Amino acid sequence: MATGKSYKWIQVLRFVVQAGIIAAVFWAGFNTKIISEALLYTVLLVGVFFCGWVCPFGAVQDWAAWLGRKLHLPRLRVPQRVQQYLQLSRYALYFLLTLGIVVSMFKGPFHFSMLLRGVFYTAGAVVVICMIVLALFTDRPFCNYLCTGGAKMGLFSVLRIFGIRRNTAVCGGCGQCSRKCPMNIDVARTDFVRHPNCIGCLQCVSACPKKCLKYTLMPAPPPKRV
Ligand code: SF4
Ligand code: SF4
Ligand code: SF4
Repeated sequence: MATGKSYKWIQVLRFVVQAGIIAAVFWAGFNTKIISEALLYTVLLVGVFFCGWVCPFGAVQDWAAWLGRKLHLPRLRVPQRVQQYLQLSRYALYFLLTLGIVVSMFKGPFHFSMLLRGVFYTAGAVVVICMIVLALFTDRPFCNYLCTGGAKMGLFSVLRIFGIRRNTAVCGGCGQCSRKCPMNIDVARTDFVRHPNCIGCLQCVSACPKKCLKYTLMPAPPPKRV
């Protein structure tokens, strides 16, 4: 019977890519704005791989989670019945931000988006530090609940043509894929993952002991979504 061990290399590759991107940003002076905008267009094709493989702050949260596991810190996981509502927070923030920008086109200098931006800039450093500390205990807290950039890409990604397919004939229902998902997506209970929160990290694929998750062309329309 097939084992999942051969797919572990995907996560080693992901770590190397994340570390390489951070090294490039710091030492080669990459223009991250151009890179991220170019990658946004790939979202429609392959999903939000940017978040799983490229984004430096995503990588930092992954590494904090790794450290938390090594230190045997307690792991917090939001139950699915709460997650289904809580995960909307980043979309609500994105909506508020967009609304603020639109309103600002018609108002004077003291408008909502300025206020929001001011709050963001002032609280930014505190939020970053809090999120890194929180990531020691739970996976990707900023990505899951606060990131408006991730929300924007996620909304585009529901149109993507590649995604993760679960071979239901082989799946043993162990739930490892769901437990490993840093975005708390219940992979074990869907046939095709097209969730807007999916960051394309493929940790579910690596975790599956039966190798029944594959990154592949999605059917259209999908038979089931999570
Ligand atoms: S959700 Fe935001 S912070 Fe997280 S990886 Fe994506 S862009 Fe980066
Ligand atoms: S569903 Fe799989 S690829 Fe998507 S975020 Fe979860 S673990 Fe990563
Ligand atoms: S890890 Fe693999 S076998 Fe286990 S529930 Fe997920 S898809 Fe099925």
